[in-house]
Amino acid sequence: MEDVYCFGGNPLDRASERRDDGDWIAKLLDDPQTRLLALRDLKPFTRGTTTPTLDWQPVAPWRARIGAGAPLVFLGLGDGRAHFAIDAVGADVAPELDTGLIDVRALAPTLAHGEAAILAEARSLLDWHARHRFCAQCGAPSTVASAGWKRHCPACRASHFPRTDPVVIMLATRGERALLGRNRRRPGARFSCLAGFVEPGETPEEAVRREVREEAGVRCGRVRYLAAQPWPFPSSLMMGFLTEALTEEITVDAEELAEARWFSRTEIREMVARAATGPDDPAQVSLPSPIAIAHHICRRWSSGLDSV
Ligand SMILES: [Zn+2]
Repeated sequence: MEDVYCFGGNPLDRASERRDDGDWIAKLLDDPQTRLLALRDLKPFTRGTTTPTLDWQPVAPWRARIGAGAPLVFLGLGDGRAHFAIDAVGADVAPELDTGLIDVRALAPTLAHGEAAILAEARSLLDWHARHRFCAQCGAPSTVASAGWKRHCPACRASHFPRTDPVVIMLATRGERALLGRNRRRPGARFSCLAGFVEPGETPEEAVRREVREEAGVRCGRVRYLAAQPWPFPSSLMMGFLTEALTEEITVDAEELAEARWFSRTEIREMVARAATGPDDPAQVSLPSPIAIAHHICRRWSSGLDSV
């Protein structure tokens, strides 16, 4: 069985073949067992303060918002009931709820795996609706369709579908060393795998070689896929790879990276251990926390579980 990382492993049955069945969706919304997750500014309503959980609510209190056309998404079936998400922007919400909103990045590590995955689905879709209110073809206002999985343009009849942006994230290795970069936008000594969007007309393997060449000037040969992780900021699919570096000399793209460096397997193993236990010590080189697939790519390679 493949490894599942944060935001992966969604337990819901998306029942995608029934999204267009308006009667069925209406029946689900009338069912008192149905659960609804509200997000405001892409942050979910939560319960509890020390270890917050998602605040699933019945549909009834949200009837007026649904009637007013707030984006509503059918997430899927689980535990014998339907799950929906709603965009609560503009909703009249009790102040004690509103102050408890936590950013998804901060919340995800404390949630159960399945809940984080459902939250990723909800966040990506509601963000897409918020940013795609007009038809990309003719510019007319579009409407939510297919239980939140489509937008329809009444003017030119075009259908628009939520997109997922493929990103390659890779560790280039050469013998007992691997290449990590330090982002310009991130302070301190935080290193990570190199990464970049797959471009139109490109395979993931080609994107891996191009990105390592562009960002660090290193040429790569073999590429091996490891695992993927949904990354709902706003809607990426992080695809993790190992790749075999054919050259060693580093020429950094100063637009992207402040620095790129070869680290030994032992150094990376130590960085992984530190990143798994707590916040960065600014005096030491560090890696992303286990929320990010970069952490697991480095962990698996440095502990000998994976090779190119
Ligand atoms: Zn249109």
